[in-house]
Amino acid sequence: MNTSEGCIETAKARALLVDDDPVMRILVREALEQCGLMVDEAEDGQQALSAYKRARPDIVLMDVMMPLMDGFEACRLLRANPEGDRTPVIMVTGLEDFDSITQAYEAGATDFVTKPINAVVLSHRVRYMLRASRALGDLRLAKESAEAANRAKSEFLANMSHEIRTPMNSILGMADLLAETALDPTQSDYVDTIRRAGNALLILINDILDLSKVEAGQFALESIPFSVHELLSTSLDLFTKRARDKGIELRSQIASDVPITVVGDPHRLRQILINLLGNAVKFTDRGEIDVQVHVGSDSQSIDLPTGAGSVLEFSVRDTGIGIPPEKHNLVFESFAQADSSTTRKYGGSGLGLAIAKRLAELMGGSMRLQSELNQGSTFSFTARFGLPAQAPANAALLQAALLQGKRIALIDDD
Ligand code: ADP
Repeated sequence: MNTSEGCIETAKARALLVDDDPVMRILVREALEQCGLMVDEAEDGQQALSAYKRARPDIVLMDVMMPLMDGFEACRLLRANPEGDRTPVIMVTGLEDFDSITQAYEAGATDFVTKPINAVVLSHRVRYMLRASRALGDLRLAKESAEAANRAKSEFLANMSHEIRTPMNSILGMADLLAETALDPTQSDYVDTIRRAGNALLILINDILDLSKVEAGQFALESIPFSVHELLSTSLDLFTKRARDKGIELRSQIASDVPITVVGDPHRLRQILINLLGNAVKFTDRGEIDVQVHVGSDSQSIDLPTGAGSVLEFSVRDTGIGIPPEKHNLVFESFAQADSSTTRKYGGSGLGLAIAKRLAELMGGSMRLQSELNQGSTFSFTARFGLPAQAPANAALLQAALLQGKRIALIDDD
């Protein structure tokens, strides 16, 4: 074995060698020292655990058959130790049967070598393990520091957006007051521009604030009772005029088993719906927009900490410009749009869907997209809600009571 080559990984590295056989310890120690490792020894599992705490080795070589506590058990106990869960452990075993190998891996061993020990194989394995373990450690550190930097950035954005919003509200308030004073047509035009641009800026700031709050983990959802029917109806109201002006039919249906009242965050649910409806109207020039709400298939099994719950699935289908398959994931990313010409033609910041998706996830659900270019898009999302203690069961019961004995004429060209 050439001690000078390949020793970068092993230089200054410490190994803990656990074996009850003194001859084996001498042989293995020699192989390890030859490739530059400092070696600590233990004669049994119990000693190994205290030697581990004392010496903090970079790698452990563990004999399997030892009196009192075998290597499997010692490895298991080592892994249970917070510092010992990442150190590579190589089992040194005379047992090369399937059961022993399985047991070694199940106990948390990283690898195993068989007796009689071949010094070349052993030092190669040790070097490889140390290299892999260091690379993993570096990756973990890099990931942790990237996550910390990202959190700091989101916190900064959340604070900044908050600071910008306050003076922005004053500017808009003053512009509103100014608009009510006696102005000539040119001045009125200027004030209108200030108000329009200010409102657009405020929407953008609110979006950035929401997204950065979600990413900084500072987003708290409300939990209050509300009516899904009312919420959907008032959300649709915002778009009826625009849809009518564009000649698009806007319709909705809530399945009869959807609870009348649910407990959750109505403002955030409305925010998701408004985003999806706004996009549907924006990107559709003919045809229809159809909103459906029904109880999700996994709803029956839900037990929230607050009691019984329900998963609701909302879908907004349009017959608009559609999104090509390769852009389906992209549109959920922040500041991303399906087509770079979108901003020019339709405006928008590319933040709405990123926020909507994260809000649905915060509500215990998910969001997905089905779409074909020039055919239309369906954005669906699920969210979990609680149920109030004494709730009217669902729309079916309420409607049955209301409609009993009534005659209805239904008039529709569709
Ligand atoms: P914005 O609409 O402000 O750009 P969004 O995050 O809401 O941001 O949407 C991102 C992009 O996804 C849009 O720019 C558009 O390219 C695409 N998109 C979203 N909804 C639809 C839709 N219903 N039909 C076609 N494209 C859509």
